[in-house]
Parts: sequence; structure tokens; C-alpha cells
Amino acid sequence: MDPLEVIANLNKAFPYFQPVFSADEHTIMGYEILGRYQSDQGIISLGPFFLDEDIPDEYRIEADNYILSQALEKSLNEGISTSFFVNRDANLLMADRGQSLLELLLRFCSKGLDLERIVLEISEKTFRGDFEQLFHLIQYYKTYGIKIAIDNIGGDSDQWERLAKVSPDIMKVDLQHLRKEAGNTAFHNILYSLSMLARKIGSTLLFENIELDYQLHFAWKNGGRYYQGFYLQEPSADFLKKEILREKLKTKCQEYIEHEKRHLKAVHGLAQLLQRETNEHINQLKKQMNDLDSLIISLSKFVGDKFFRLYICDGNGFQLTENLIRKDSRWAALDGFKGKNWSWRPYFLENIMRMQNKNAGLLSDSYSDIETGEMIRTFSYPLGENHYLFMDLAYDFLYDQDGIHY
Ligand code: CA
Repeated sequence: MDPLEVIANLNKAFPYFQPVFSADEHTIMGYEILGRYQSDQGIISLGPFFLDEDIPDEYRIEADNYILSQALEKSLNEGISTSFFVNRDANLLMADRGQSLLELLLRFCSKGLDLERIVLEISEKTFRGDFEQLFHLIQYYKTYGIKIAIDNIGGDSDQWERLAKVSPDIMKVDLQHLRKEAGNTAFHNILYSLSMLARKIGSTLLFENIELDYQLHFAWKNGGRYYQGFYLQEPSADFLKKEILREKLKTKCQEYIEHEKRHLKAVHGLAQLLQRETNEHINQLKKQMNDLDSLIISLSKFVGDKFFRLYICDGNGFQLTENLIRKDSRWAALDGFKGKNWSWRPYFLENIMRMQNKNAGLLSDSYSDIETGEMIRTFSYPLGENHYLFMDLAYDFLYDQDGIHY
């Protein structure tokens, strides 16, 4: 594409609309406005034009605003009352301190546009200016009721700091690289943390580039409220019926719910099995309660290869035994653990309280073991007298359990 051709023929540029679907209503909640150009070879995307830094800022701003004007005009003419996602590169936005965009929006405001339906979608990864100034501009836009989304969110920690500061209404996460379950543990973990951050700062997650059922399922499971991508709907020149995918999304959602419930049931079933078995074993070992190290050695003879690590702590997290470790089906004590404290670990004290209140054991979520790096779970069990037994389940055992190994 020749940028000069675009600049000389701006009347051949026009908006495309890609719908964004909401998980709570299964309807279209808004459209991302995209730039297209009618070339001699057909319709082409203006994405590369907007990213091309060799093209002077003012031309790109002009084209951006031209397309936005057409989009808003069309939405007013057709009485469309959804949200609109307006893309702006942070460098371009700051080139005129956001003036031309705000003027344009205010002009449409007087024609009936509700500014609360505008989501300013900022790409700030390549921003070279002063972040404080960008931050102030964002705050200023927010005073008009304009919503803020941050585009292209990834695992980079500098960006997370900025996210926490801006607390955008929406975080847009690209699922393009999430093609299948295997080999994506790092990405899964980052997204899990991102969903925690979003919850803390009151942002909503939007997952984009959803092209496969797997990605939609993933988005649903990872706290995504908004979805966008070819698997749902391609961008087009026209607005669509809000309910266009209601039935499909409802059916998908029900599938995911069933899947998740089967998984939760399997986890619950395993927790109950471990509770029953541990009760039985501990009953048989009652006489050894005052020698905790020998208690876990005797216990290890009962538990087979379900577990690979056993130890006992008090209610404040101080370890009262050594670690008993299974290696190649032989159990052995590993010294140096007695007296260590684990109260700093996430959920530790909370779990002690839960065990006290229920007077029953707990099966943890799956997490990566500090020493082996394998995904494991821990079964913890109240022994009475402020003693708590911790039993780490072996990866191989968990992997063989139906519906558990994720
Ligand atoms: Ca975008």
C-alpha cells in the first residue's frame, strides 16, 4: 500500500466494525472501529498505515479522525446505542495532546452521542513520551465519562505498573498465541495473575483474537467478560443484530459450565477420598501421636505412591517434623526442615482456619512445586492439638485422575 495514495484519496477510506460480545448477556456490547481502504485490488486494512512511523503524524491523525467521524455519523443515523472502541496509538494521541480527538467527540456529543459509550483504546507499548503526561490526558478524558481500554496487554512487568496506575476500565488481552493447551503454562499463569490484578483495580478483561473454541473456553474460564475475534464474528461494514450470537454463546457457555462442574466434582470427590483414607490411617496410628516424626514414617507405609512429601506443622506454620520424601518408591527423611515457618505462604493461615472450622482436611488448588517444578496439589489435614499434616500429591498420581489434571 502506498501511503501517499491513501492520503490523496482519503474519501476511499471507511470504517469497519468488529463486534465485541458480552459474557453476561451473550449480546453485542460494542464495536471496535477499524480502518479500511478501497484500493484497486479490493478492500485493504489501514492497520499498517497507522503503524507506519514514516508517515507524518498529522496525516495519520487526519485519517484516524476521518474514519471515526464516518463511524459515529453512521451510528447516529442508524440509532445504534452500543459502545464504540476507538483505537489510538499513544504517540499519535499525545502529538496534539489529544485535542483533535476530543474536539471531534464533543462535536458528535452535541449531535446526540453519549460519551460514556466511547471506549478509548490506547496502545501504549511503544509510547516514547512522558508517561505522566499521558496519564494526565487519560484522567482528563475520563472526566468526560469516556472509558479507557489498554490494548495489547502481555506479560511485561513495566506495563503492569502502568496498568495499576491508569486502572483502565477494560484490559484487552490478545489470545492469538494461545493455540492449544500444551506448552502454555507460562501464559496461563500470567493471565491468572492479570485477572487478579484486574479484579483488584476494578478493570474488566476483554479477550481478543478468539479464533478457536478452545480460546473462547479459555477466555470464559479466565474471567473474561468481553470477547472478540473471528470465531465469533469478522469485522464488516455494517452493524449487526445485538442478539446475533445469543443462542450460540448460550450453548457454548452451558458446555463450559458442565465441563467445569465435572472438574469441580472430580476435585471434590478426590478430597473426600483422601479425607476418608487419612481418617482411617490416623485412627490406626493413634498411639504414635506424641512422636510426630515416627507418625509420618508409619503413615508413609499406608499411603503408597499417591504422595511424595509428608510433614507436620503447628497452627502458626512452624514445621514440627522433618520432610519425609518419596524417591523411586522409597521414603526417606530429609533433614533441615524442622522449625521452619510457612505462615508467609499465600492462603496458609486462611487454610489453617478453614481446617479448624470444618474439622476436616483440605485439597489445595494446583500449583507449581518450589522444588520439583511440577504441578501438584497438597492435601492438608488437622490432627488435633494444633497439629496439621501436609501431604503433597504426586504429579503422576494427579495426572491419572479423571478430570483432575488441569
Ligand atoms: Ca485494537
